[in-house]
Amino acid sequence: MTVESRYQADIAILGAGFGGSLMALLIKQLGLKPLLIERGAHPRFALGESATPLADLVLSDLARRYDLPRVAPLAEYGSWQRAYPNLVCGLKRGFSYYHHEAGLPWRPRPNHGNELLVAASLSADDADTHWLRAQFDHFLLGEVQAAGIPYLERAEIEQISGGPPWVLSGTSEGRRFRIAAAFLIDASGEGRALARWLNVADQPDRMRTHSRAVYGHFENVRRWQEMLLEAGSGGDEHPFNCDDAALHHLCDGGWMWVLRFGNGVTSAGWMLDQNRWPAQSSLNAVEEWSAWLARFPSIQRQFADARLVDPPGGLRRTGRLQHRLRRAAALGWAMLPTTAYTLDALHSTGNAHTLSGIERLVEIIEQAWNKPWFPAALADYDRAVQAEISHLDRLVHGCYRALGQFELFAAFAMFYFAAAHTCEMRRRSGANRTGGFLLAQDAAFGAALDEAYRQLIELTEERGPASQAEIRAFERQVAAAIRPFNTAGLCDPARNNRYPYMVAGI
Ligand SMILES: Cc1cc2nc3c(=O)[nH]c(=O)nc-3n(C[C@H](O)[C@H](O)[C@H](O)COP(=O)(O)OP(=O)(O)OC[C@H]3O[C@@H](n4cnc5c(N)ncnc54)[C@H](O)[C@@H]3O)c2cc1C
Repeated sequence: MTVESRYQADIAILGAGFGGSLMALLIKQLGLKPLLIERGAHPRFALGESATPLADLVLSDLARRYDLPRVAPLAEYGSWQRAYPNLVCGLKRGFSYYHHEAGLPWRPRPNHGNELLVAASLSADDADTHWLRAQFDHFLLGEVQAAGIPYLERAEIEQISGGPPWVLSGTSEGRRFRIAAAFLIDASGEGRALARWLNVADQPDRMRTHSRAVYGHFENVRRWQEMLLEAGSGGDEHPFNCDDAALHHLCDGGWMWVLRFGNGVTSAGWMLDQNRWPAQSSLNAVEEWSAWLARFPSIQRQFADARLVDPPGGLRRTGRLQHRLRRAAALGWAMLPTTAYTLDALHSTGNAHTLSGIERLVEIIEQAWNKPWFPAALADYDRAVQAEISHLDRLVHGCYRALGQFELFAAFAMFYFAAAHTCEMRRRSGANRTGGFLLAQDAAFGAALDEAYRQLIELTEERGPASQAEIRAFERQVAAAIRPFNTAGLCDPARNNRYPYMVAGI
């Protein structure tokens, strides 16, 4: 081994996903010295592809406030296309859900009782995007390097000592390094790099959601809209083309995401309730994938000609996804939210949560760095992240419980959309974080969600399906509960599960 490279940083960031790279750029803009360490190498395959209006708004606010004009266009589909036509993304106009029954082809119903479409934008120009993470993260890393921020790739951290200040030592691309840093930010996601060194306990039992995934990137996935029209559904009545969206196929105990990128590649994955569908060791990932397609004739037809193109090692299958670290920050360190926990892909909350955590941390560093109240500000951050994790877990777990009865799912999902719309509207009007991320700190919303969640658990206990009378009562309960937060005409039976974008302030 040759000479050791020595670095001095104010803040060392572990993990160069989009979160770590953006954090590094922002810290530099504050006039501090960041350093970025990545275990792997870019470009690389990653999940976490579907953005939301809230994610876009936070990204746009960060780019404007901290003067990152090259990042700003990534906050909307139209500006992205104009600024970076060669940087691949997908068009996301909203969320579309289709409920399937095993063994039966999907058929439209006159009242659209097996589909739900919720628009998230007025037009393609101001729409969300699906991020092809290999390219998106690589682009942001390019910005980090162009800003002259030290970056260590293929880095293995062998020792973290002190705390604070910290000394990190290890190897990067075969060369030894030693980094002295006043503060550490863990943006390593599933790597959870710091937890190991600081003995931060993982407490997955504090998560109610219990899901696993099988996923990959494919070519030649048929457009669902074409198949809907073939099946006799009036696609022209849709508030947006259901493929230009986060398309969800739902079934009892699971669901599938289908996200199309502009280069002909489609990200798709089954998310399965582990309690309902535990992993079968007798099937490998490809066999399990095929078995799930075979259960649902229309989804099988959509994937009939599909060819896997990524990740390089073939289809990936996980065990239980949920993790939850006991602390997200303390003296001398902080984690991005999605390093402190892993939840699930439902509702695409991860990237928006990562960005909102970045925004909060950057503000703390801006206002409290080297000040006596820095530790107290970090403790507040920890408390907020922990409360948000519990809140998101409830929103997602309730939906899992309702997957077998689509009407219950469509009703309970309105809590997510009401929270998202309210937060978007508040942010557009300058009230930024009032109520916390997706209203996690809004007591009235929390109480209403708690009560509906409790009812839903009762309705979905093992006692057979809820009756039509119980479902109607639950729908009325949800409609009343979200009324103070319902800015977009949600829960209106006249809309037949099709909601155009009506968030005020756009
Ligand atoms: C199945 C699934 C689907 C999801 N889909 C969505 C979605 O559609 N929309 C959404 O908003 N969110 C989604 N999420 C959440 C999303 O994945 C995260 O929000 C997002 O990846 C967080 O980005 P990040 O940059 O913080 O971390 P990551 O993307 O996880 O990047 C972490 C980086 O750290 C590196 N690293 C790991 N260990 C170390 C180490 N020891 N030292 C140095 N570097 C290290 C890794 O190599 C990696 O490059 C999904 C999550 C799951 C589990």
